[in-house]
Amino acid sequence: MTPQPIDILNKKFGFPAFRHHQKEIISRVLSKKDTFVLMPTGGGKSLCYQIPALIFEGVTIVISPLIALMKDQVDALRVNGIAAAFLNSTQSQLEQSDTIRQLENKQLKLLYLAPERLLGNDGQFIVFLKRIQVSLIAIDEAHCISQWGHDFRPEYLMLAKLKQELPKVPVIALTATADKLTQKDILSKLALKTPQTFLSSFNRANIQYFVEPKRNSYQRLLNFLSGHEEDSGIIYTLSRQSTEDLAARLTAEGYAAKPYHAGLERQVRQQHQELFLKDDIKIIVATIAFGMGIDKSNVRYVAHMDLPKNLESYYQETGRAGRDGLPCQAMLFYSYADVMKLKGFAEVENNAEQTRIMLKKLDQMAEFCQIRFCRRKYLLNYFDEEAPDQCGGCDVCLTEYEKIDGTVIAQKALSAVARLDERFGMNYVVDFLRGSRSEKLRPEHKALKTYGVGADLSKEDWMQYIKDLLAQNYLQKSEGEYPVLKLAQKSTAVLRGKEKVMLIKLGERAEILTETPPYEAGLFLDLKALRNQFAIKENVPPYVIFSDATLIELSTYLPQNKPEMKQISGFGEIKLEKYGKEFQEKIVRYCQEHQLQSRIRDKKPKRQKKASKERTTDTKLSSFESYKEGLSVAEIAKERNLSPQTIEGHLAHFILEGSIEVTELVPESKIPAIIQAIQAHGDAVLGSIKQALGEEVSYGEIKAVINYLKKSKKIP
Ligand code: ADP
Ligand code: ZN
Repeated sequence: MTPQPIDILNKKFGFPAFRHHQKEIISRVLSKKDTFVLMPTGGGKSLCYQIPALIFEGVTIVISPLIALMKDQVDALRVNGIAAAFLNSTQSQLEQSDTIRQLENKQLKLLYLAPERLLGNDGQFIVFLKRIQVSLIAIDEAHCISQWGHDFRPEYLMLAKLKQELPKVPVIALTATADKLTQKDILSKLALKTPQTFLSSFNRANIQYFVEPKRNSYQRLLNFLSGHEEDSGIIYTLSRQSTEDLAARLTAEGYAAKPYHAGLERQVRQQHQELFLKDDIKIIVATIAFGMGIDKSNVRYVAHMDLPKNLESYYQETGRAGRDGLPCQAMLFYSYADVMKLKGFAEVENNAEQTRIMLKKLDQMAEFCQIRFCRRKYLLNYFDEEAPDQCGGCDVCLTEYEKIDGTVIAQKALSAVARLDERFGMNYVVDFLRGSRSEKLRPEHKALKTYGVGADLSKEDWMQYIKDLLAQNYLQKSEGEYPVLKLAQKSTAVLRGKEKVMLIKLGERAEILTETPPYEAGLFLDLKALRNQFAIKENVPPYVIFSDATLIELSTYLPQNKPEMKQISGFGEIKLEKYGKEFQEKIVRYCQEHQLQSRIRDKKPKRQKKASKERTTDTKLSSFESYKEGLSVAEIAKERNLSPQTIEGHLAHFILEGSIEVTELVPESKIPAIIQAIQAHGDAVLGSIKQALGEEVSYGEIKAVINYLKKSKKIP
């Protein structure tokens, strides 16, 4: 009997249910018809061809542009007991002929190849493939075939011949980014036969989006990183030099960070990437040279120190966070100066049309940073997708903006526009307001009374206020390539002092909520260490053994025996046999030490993400309620079946809110020493504060004092 896709999903991969359109896609592929899949990064594209590969009789060929990734993908399959291999130029002759022999003997289910390997070299290899049984061809990163996309690779053009050479073999093309134009282009270039397209939502619900002004951005970055000490993250910068500088500064700060850019020696680059993939360093500071297809599932944040050049890049780069589906964050530092700088790069030589497209994309990128409505909505609309007005997961949605009386500001701006005869764009108006000495300002304008009346505000502040005035229809902008600011109907009343204008206070930002799910943080670290041991032994990156999502499930539900272990997502049959026992032992021991029991009964297989999110928000609150009822930390820990450390963390949160005093959680005698340590080490790295203070002081106590200092504004 042929195995069913769902059985393979459960047994081989250890996942309880299909996601997105996986089920429909797989059944389409099994009917041997051509298929086109658009699914966001982390959506689970690989299983769409891996599961059919296991059901079909012959071998499935996977075309992938990045040689560097093939090994990881193949390792990940082998760990699940699946016969897979790759062929590329980095291998020795011996290795290659070994793989060829396995193919001839029908011993492989999946073979990964670069496109030029499939069709290049006078078609020798394709002749060979015609001889053996190829059941399916999967083309990963299919947008690389289109010049309309943002990552065109000429070698992909060879794939246009694929259908002529192997007309009977079904093809599945997959990509995570493609606008309408690129989609059409992919289908026609590949000459797919009556393909069916599966389009998943591009919303990455587990990513929170934040934009902050690029002022003191280094300090802001440190604030952001605090609370992320144990997490992996990617920090993007524009220039090679700045990746190195920033990596060095962060290293000095106690973060394990390395730079990555195309100017580094190949060997160094690879080494840094490897360290990052293997969790030996936490942070990679990189130019955009880093990351295409990076398949590290536990990246918890992506920060952009400089503006990306368009929203496609931004979406793709931020998309490298949270492929495991767990909460993660994207932080972008925005400045108008960056827009100006990038304008210089947007020029495409001898191609006015292309230049125009690039400049428009840059404008939209800047607009995304400046809007005062939901950023996710803007992003999804940009990709032609509908979205609700509020997502609850971006800085705008998370902030209640404070308004100020902006009447004088508005009057200055409006009279500047009037004085300039409504004939100039925003930049000019702002320069004029600020009394810029720039040559661009006409001498007759410099003689006007309004010239320089707004010198007390920065350019960015003015930009922001004017946007706000536009949004509230106190000003208008003309259409066309060079829009100018114009007065509106509502302007007159303001200029005559008859209408009060309220503007959003600048510098407001949402507090970033790094929710800790109710898992046992200590156990999670133990399990990570165990995972690392296996990873080193088998010489694969840790996430190939288990994703962080799996370890978090283990630390949440605390399974105590084999049947319980089996219910954890990510434990297929092979992995259960291979690693189950040792992970189980670690968990059992931890539970004994902390007097905890299995919580596997809380695990609901369906809608698990939502449920756990609800619990997350509730969980602090319910610790707090018990605390207010008079229970001690130890008692709450017992009652809730969580560790005392976790409860301390919950309660510390309420110091910030002002509902608990720091002295309720930390003995007064300890506080001065803790403050001293925080001042010496900064509040960014909990680990080094803890180290300085020793066993006497707990993480919860440190967190409590940090929150106290924050609350009383002694630290930002
Ligand atoms: P993509 O190629 O679309 O970026 P992947 O195929 O690499 O995404 O999958 C992302 C992660 O999600 C992987 O860790 C994968 O094991 C996991 N995954 C895929 N499908 C499922 C599923 N149905 N249930 C649970 N996890 C899944
Ligand atoms: Zn939002």
